Amino acid sequence: MGLEARHIVVVGAGIVGAATALALVERGARVTVLERASPGSAVSGASLACLGTHMNSEIELPQLIWATQRWALWDQRFNGAFHYRRCGQIRFIDHEADIPTTERWIALERAAGLSASFLTAEQVREIEPALTGPILAASWSPDDALVNPFLSVRTLLRAAMDAGAQLRHHQSVLAIDTRGESVCGVRTADATIPADAVVVAGGPWAADLVAPLGVSLPIVPRKAQCLATVAQPPTIRGVVGACKSEQGGVHGGYTQIQQSEAGQILFNTVLEGGKSAPGAQNTIPQVDLRFVSDSIATLLRLFPGLRGTDVLRSWVRFEAVTPDDRFIAGPVGPTGLYMAAGDNGTGFLRAPVIAEIIAAALEARSGEVDPSPYDPRRFSAGRETHA
Ligand SMILES: Cc1cc2nc3c(=O)[nH]c(=O)nc-3n(C[C@H](O)[C@H](O)[C@H](O)COP(=O)(O)OP(=O)(O)OC[C@H]3O[C@@H](n4cnc5c(N)ncnc54)[C@H](O)[C@@H]3O)c2cc1C
Repeated sequence: MGLEARHIVVVGAGIVGAATALALVERGARVTVLERASPGSAVSGASLACLGTHMNSEIELPQLIWATQRWALWDQRFNGAFHYRRCGQIRFIDHEADIPTTERWIALERAAGLSASFLTAEQVREIEPALTGPILAASWSPDDALVNPFLSVRTLLRAAMDAGAQLRHHQSVLAIDTRGESVCGVRTADATIPADAVVVAGGPWAADLVAPLGVSLPIVPRKAQCLATVAQPPTIRGVVGACKSEQGGVHGGYTQIQQSEAGQILFNTVLEGGKSAPGAQNTIPQVDLRFVSDSIATLLRLFPGLRGTDVLRSWVRFEAVTPDDRFIAGPVGPTGLYMAAGDNGTGFLRAPVIAEIIAAALEARSGEVDPSPYDPRRFSAGRETHA
């Protein structure tokens, strides 16, 4: 069924809402995007926005490959508007025990047609000369890319609006209305907006919005923190992260270091992950002191030449975490209600996949990507809950 003449409300103008609005309007739907603040002002604008298939998710690899191809197509279509840069990603290795894990990732990515490879410490320095710290070896994924997060959200939203979508920002959706067994619209403080379908792309706020409809989704907030130095001359060429590891902690893959086009070094190292308290996404927290010292220690260990560089700013956002680290994308609850949330901290890359899945579900057809890893029904009957 085509989407012509159907009015679809998208709640949230982060990268997922923006990509979804574009996918829907291009299929002929009449689309209204409602954003309670400014587009991209929540998690998406705070993102490091690495589009990387490497050491990411084995089960989602076909979807991730499709996502990276879609981002590259968007870059061509929008003429470099969001500063897409194919800079590659290095995952450094500190422990012998992590070499087999790294080799396994490289093998499975190569089997899927990707170009990941193993690097000695000397080879790392040819690719990333300032990385002179004491690492054992690394993996290398040359096709991983970076984009500017704000410009990405704005470019996709602008394209959706040029195709006819309406954006209403600074308008919070207070409730989703139903008639019988179907959704019939949404309410804001000063309007009731009828709709044939509602897509909730509300990030860590998504579950609370559908809860009054009796839809219970296991999405909880997780604090994500980041630091930026004052602008530096070109120092770091690509994305540098820790390899997936059997060691846990930072060696479990939770370091990300890169340099922005403006010259700032953006970096974070998280030794302790875990979920935040319910409702944490509604607070304005500061970075943890432990996080600051761990992040600086890792940065200077890898890039000793940066010693003495001033830290300029820090920020915190809340990612939306599900029990199996995968999005919840598809129909939930009453007819016409769709969920597009549960980013698990890597939703920038996945946004085009989620948009394609939602559009295909609304059209009741098979789309270009297999939606099964994100099927909301995997959480029905309490089959999986947060540990
Ligand atoms: C420091 C950091 C680094 C990251 N690095 C990467 C990375 O390298 N690669 C990667 O892929 N991902 C990364 N991520 C994760 C990525 O940024 C997120 O997964 C992604 O931006 C989530 O997008 P979203 O659209 O789902 O959520 P959001 O950007 O949070 O958008 C949801 C929107 O919904 C709006 N909203 C909520 N409730 C309502 C309501 N009731 N009415 C109206 N509007 C509402 C909010 O205001 C918000 O704008 C990182 C995140 C952080 C914080």
